[in-house]
Amino acid sequence: MSKSKEKKMPKPKGKKKKKISKHYINSIVEASNPTERKIDFKQYTTNDLIKACANCSMCREECPTYVSREAESFFAGGRLRIFRTIVERNLPVTDDFVEAMYLCTTCKQCEDICPIGLKYVDLIEDLRCELVQQGIGPYGGLIGFSKSIHLNNNPYGEPPSKRKDWVEEGVTEVEKGPYAYFVGCTASYRTQSAALNTARILTKILGGIVLLGPDEVCCGSPIIRTGQIDFQLEIEEGKFVPFTVEDYITRNIENMITRDIEEVIFSCSGCYKTSTDDWPKYFSKEIPFKRTHISQFLARLVEKNEIQFKPLNKKVTYHDPCHLGRHRKVYDDPRTVLYAIPELEVIEMRKNRNRSRCCGAGGGVKAGFGADALSIAKVRVQEAVDTGADILATSCVFCKYNFLDAKKEMGVDIEILNIEDIVVDLL
Ligand code: SF4
Ligand code: SF4
Repeated sequence: MSKSKEKKMPKPKGKKKKKISKHYINSIVEASNPTERKIDFKQYTTNDLIKACANCSMCREECPTYVSREAESFFAGGRLRIFRTIVERNLPVTDDFVEAMYLCTTCKQCEDICPIGLKYVDLIEDLRCELVQQGIGPYGGLIGFSKSIHLNNNPYGEPPSKRKDWVEEGVTEVEKGPYAYFVGCTASYRTQSAALNTARILTKILGGIVLLGPDEVCCGSPIIRTGQIDFQLEIEEGKFVPFTVEDYITRNIENMITRDIEEVIFSCSGCYKTSTDDWPKYFSKEIPFKRTHISQFLARLVEKNEIQFKPLNKKVTYHDPCHLGRHRKVYDDPRTVLYAIPELEVIEMRKNRNRSRCCGAGGGVKAGFGADALSIAKVRVQEAVDTGADILATSCVFCKYNFLDAKKEMGVDIEILNIEDIVVDLL
């Protein structure tokens, strides 16, 4: 039979096989400058976490960054495989490796699904610290977080003097405790309506609140999540200054202590998670005040029958922020508040509570990988639209910020609101 007349073998039916990612291969075999980019990973050779991964890939399809990139180096098991190979074979580190280690939202979906309960997020944050310490991380423009925080106390490059510019009528400030509202950088400069609505709610309920204003500094979340914890920061060519997250955490805590604060309320899930999980690690004494998310604060009042809401004849679906849900296990309180609103119909998305999809913004992904953050957010916004809800509600100013960007691109008809945006007009 001539070659041209040969019958081709029929292709097997079923799912198309995914291509092996160039990132996976590049990360292992390439190095732009192997001698300079060797990194001392000795301490990881005995690390049980990287050896424990069973390579089952059960965490792959659920990972938001895998959904965005469809490449083997962008989910927990794939990253661990690459990292283990580099450690065990003492291979040089490449730009693709650094990119793969930073394109992770630290959402913990992989941990929730992992059959052996591997604590992946602790490992990736630890590895990012190592990359920063050894002058290889953070990825791309993420160094801008620490540079801006060093200059302005926030990662957005905004002046500290404008931190309280969102304050308007309906907000009463008091000099001393017991209650303070920690606004956070995103609500102070980017989603200011959430800051204003939270402060108005707290004013109505408590009579007045302490706001630190220009004395409030970054909670530490963006720099902890991206490994910029304790290193020499180059502020101009050849000029280095010590940069440590401990300084910022200590300033926030001491500013609360001098104002006799007993309870601090947060509207950003990232700030709340950082204040509860991370602040105690970096503050030398016991933190003498309680830290509460606004959804917990409102749910407490609902449960004690100390608050009533006016009716709202709409449909809402609730998005669990990763840092409030999977990281802090706060699933019921936001729902308690929504269910307490008369006539409001609450519809769950298919993926909810511990199985909630990530919004795509966390872990430095929105700043470092804007297109991925947007594509991940679009998947979640579409899921909300598919429920037929009028409102996509969340409990995190950073999730809201990313969803609003996605909504703008998609042109869909759904309101994106934080719980406090809904509640403020119903008191
Ligand atoms: S933490 Fe989230 S983004 Fe990172 S690997 Fe796990 S599932 Fe993927
Ligand atoms: S689910 Fe767990 S064991 Fe399986 S690949 Fe992912 S991290 Fe490894």
